[in-house]
Amino acid sequence: MAEKICVAVRLRPPVSQSQSQDQDTSSATFWRVEDNRISLHKLHGTPIPGISYAFDYVFDETCSNAKVYELLTKDVIHAAVDGFNGTAFAYGQTSSGKTFTMNGSPNDPGIIHRAVNDVFRKIQMISDREFLIRVSYMEIYNEEINDLFAVENQKLQIHESLERGIFVAGLREEIVNNADQVIKLLESGEVNRHFGETNMNARSSRSHTIFRMVIESKGIDSRSSGDYSSSDAIRVSVLNLVDLAGSERIAKTGAGGVRLKEGKYINKSLMVLGNVINKLSNGAKQRAHIPYRDSKLTRILQTALGGNAKTSIICTLAPEEVHVEETKGTLLFASRAKRITNCAQVNEILTDAALLKRQQLEIEELRRKLQGSRSEVLEQEILKLRNDMLKYELEREKLEMELEEERKSHKEREQCIRDQQLKIENLSSLVSDGDRSSSQDSMKESPKDECNYRGDDFKTPCFKAAGNAFVAKRSNNSQLPHFSPLPDSFSNVADEDTWFKMNKGYIADLDLLQTTPARKVQSFPPQDITPDCSNDNYKEELQNLKRQLELAIKEKNELERKHEEEIQLNGRLMGEIAELKQELDVNNNLLETSKERYGSLEREFQLLKEERDSLQKSVSESSQKLTFVTDQKENILKDLNSEVQRRKDLEAEIKQFSVAFASRQRSLASIHGEFKSKMEKLRAENPVPLHKSLQY
Ligand code: ADP
Ligand code: MG
Repeated sequence: MAEKICVAVRLRPPVSQSQSQDQDTSSATFWRVEDNRISLHKLHGTPIPGISYAFDYVFDETCSNAKVYELLTKDVIHAAVDGFNGTAFAYGQTSSGKTFTMNGSPNDPGIIHRAVNDVFRKIQMISDREFLIRVSYMEIYNEEINDLFAVENQKLQIHESLERGIFVAGLREEIVNNADQVIKLLESGEVNRHFGETNMNARSSRSHTIFRMVIESKGIDSRSSGDYSSSDAIRVSVLNLVDLAGSERIAKTGAGGVRLKEGKYINKSLMVLGNVINKLSNGAKQRAHIPYRDSKLTRILQTALGGNAKTSIICTLAPEEVHVEETKGTLLFASRAKRITNCAQVNEILTDAALLKRQQLEIEELRRKLQGSRSEVLEQEILKLRNDMLKYELEREKLEMELEEERKSHKEREQCIRDQQLKIENLSSLVSDGDRSSSQDSMKESPKDECNYRGDDFKTPCFKAAGNAFVAKRSNNSQLPHFSPLPDSFSNVADEDTWFKMNKGYIADLDLLQTTPARKVQSFPPQDITPDCSNDNYKEELQNLKRQLELAIKEKNELERKHEEEIQLNGRLMGEIAELKQELDVNNNLLETSKERYGSLEREFQLLKEERDSLQKSVSESSQKLTFVTDQKENILKDLNSEVQRRKDLEAEIKQFSVAFASRQRSLASIHGEFKSKMEKLRAENPVPLHKSLQY
């Protein structure tokens, strides 16, 4: 669905010092922000007609990065997680607040930090898809692409393939699984950017930085987990967060030498960006050719501009009077950008181009296993292995590209050598012919048959005698119109017409310009050579040709030497590729062994788990028994206590009995004693015969 690019402008707070510098207060102006409109006013309040612009958002100096993110960028970021390409970039003159907006401050993090956090927060909430996120960070400085994650990766080339679209070959990518990791990487990238730099500000205002996240995702099929059919579509989206170079005119950055070169390049990138935006804003009828290829920046941002992407642009403005002209330029740029329509759609691919797919079979299974055992250390190890694999893949890809380039230039050189040889043969035959003809003084013959010289236009003579057609090959570069340096009066960076006029309609193809091998273009002395040439002229011409022959031989030797070197280089590159392949094999083996190790660990873990479960079961059984026994013991104890009590009671009773018994005994004994004494007394009173008494 076609939709407009979202454009906002942001006015930064004034730097107090520069306000006091305004001397001519009669012409003093200020920018007024009302809702989504910004307009230039005279100091006493009257608006200046014609300088009033409306945008999707206009943020005044009190606005925080949080608000900018929330209103302008959040949707682009969320859409990127859902599979739409996204780009957010900051445009504006140096010191207007681009870096503040993108990177922010510790109290108010910028768009990049917020985007990174948001991406990870969002993917955590999506439970039915799995994600793979890679990040890269590059800088375009003097039209050269440098890797900010790997200082050794410099002057990288842009390539295009059907599967991967436009990409920077050899750029380091890191797989990441949390926001902190990304922030750390970004910090290391910043350190790399400072590496060997004496004047950081100068560089940062002249270079563009692009932070890139590639978000791949795949639906999790709960029914057949572990079964990766080749028809699974994987969503791949690219998110670019771009801090552009300062958009100020070159006249301001001034000076010559290196700075001018930088200025020219930076200006070129931004100028092409301006051109692209101009053309796109002119609507469908003029969209025939958009000069994306004219600069590295526009090439990389190609999909973001008028293509398959959701894009938001924030144009930062410096409010000071001294910057009014620049600010007007920025507003013009912003209002053109506002007219661009993009057509974003979810990118689903079925091929192996998605990294997720390529790595999935080997690693995903491992990861799932690990999720079961929740081992963070092992997760880290897996991440490292994945990153290593990616690194090797990128390295191999880079070498392959280099080899391809080498092959191309090798072929070109071979062709060149063949041309040269042909030329030499022709020249030799010409020289021998010339010697012959001068000795025979055959110059009286009609020269029109032999030569076709015109005063202003050198044409190759027809060497019928040599039997070989001679083809003069001019370098492509020599046919280009003169590339004029940018004049100081150049008024607007984004002025496509001036650029067009300056270059006589020629649209430079940077890649072409840079990859064309340097060839010496030989020229003949600028003399008028008429068809009726005299003998002297002819001799001179012969001399020239001889000189040229010598030059050509020299050049041929040089080319042969270079060719030899190329062959050696090719050999070396092949060797390196073989080494890398070996390394990759080793790495794969390593991966295999660690996979096995994880497998055995997992099995051990399973066994231990089972053992623990059975132990737990027996422990619970024993504890049940124990409770039962304890209950029984308590009951018995209770019984025992009552028995003891009963025994005590019985003992007390027995005691009472024995006391009673003893007293009875005692009373019986006393009764018996009494009875005995009474009997004694009676016997004594009535003595009876013994037998009677015995009877009794
Ligand atoms: P640029 O990247 O466009 O060259 P910077 O982002 O470096 O500009 O901003 C220049 C200065 O202005 C910095 O010191 C920055 O902290 C400050 N600044 C820019 N925008 C704001 C803002 N919205 N609020 C507060 N300070 C800002
Ligand atoms: Mg900056």
